[in-house]
Amino acid sequence: MATGLGLLVGSFLNVVAARLPERLAYDFQVQCHDMLNLPLPQERPPGILWGRSRCPVCQQIIAWYDNIPLLSYLLLQGRCRHCGVRIPLRYPFVEALTAGLSLLAAIRLGTGWHAVAAIVLIWLLIVLAVIDRRHQLLPDALIFPGLWAGLLLNTKELFVPCHTAILGAAAGYLCLRAVAELFHLVTGKVGMGHGDFKLMALIGAWLGWQALLPVVLLACLFGLGAAACRALLFGIGRQAPLPFGPALAAGTICCLLTPSCALWFYWADALPL
Ligand SMILES: [Zn+2]
Repeated sequence: MATGLGLLVGSFLNVVAARLPERLAYDFQVQCHDMLNLPLPQERPPGILWGRSRCPVCQQIIAWYDNIPLLSYLLLQGRCRHCGVRIPLRYPFVEALTAGLSLLAAIRLGTGWHAVAAIVLIWLLIVLAVIDRRHQLLPDALIFPGLWAGLLLNTKELFVPCHTAILGAAAGYLCLRAVAELFHLVTGKVGMGHGDFKLMALIGAWLGWQALLPVVLLACLFGLGAAACRALLFGIGRQAPLPFGPALAAGTICCLLTPSCALWFYWADALPL
């Protein structure tokens, strides 16, 4: 059941990752029109929940039987039925990843509310990672509801005690921001965006301040690994920007699902606050 639900949700996450940045760009252009009299954008992009999916090249509406997670991609051999343009591998990858991680979470964490909340957090982190990788943007429209949800769930101590979650949210934001400001002071370069600070606040709100260090250490490993793979496989140099959001998301999911979370619990037990 977790796998099937994960496939359907993965398909929905693809829609959110494609449409939300378009809507945010449109809203920003409308604000520029209102405040600066810049030209109004011509067409309003479809909403997240409403409007059928279309091929971005030939604009044909995608039929339901061409929209079945994973299966349609395989049957269509990764191409649009109408114009034959290649469908990005990102779509089946996100669907398979969401299904796989949902199944893993259900196996490791069981079926209680804790597991349900953890799976929702994983879905949120996946969509944030996809948007950040494509647009170098971690939208407030997703980050803030996620942050409040983490704090509210921890009022019932679903993951950590409430005061640990509040400290985690504040420490997550402030610590990463302090590192980024120091980096800017020393090198004169901008190393991280404000979205990364807010994502760390979200992670702290869900998992408490004790999880922040393991998450950042894992994220640095993932980030270095991704940069090395990119350089070796595609010859992309280190000057090209590498979003940190996907690495933070991967580090958080590891802390939730793998034995490395033992480190987090060790911290929680050793230094109770
Ligand atoms: Zn097409």
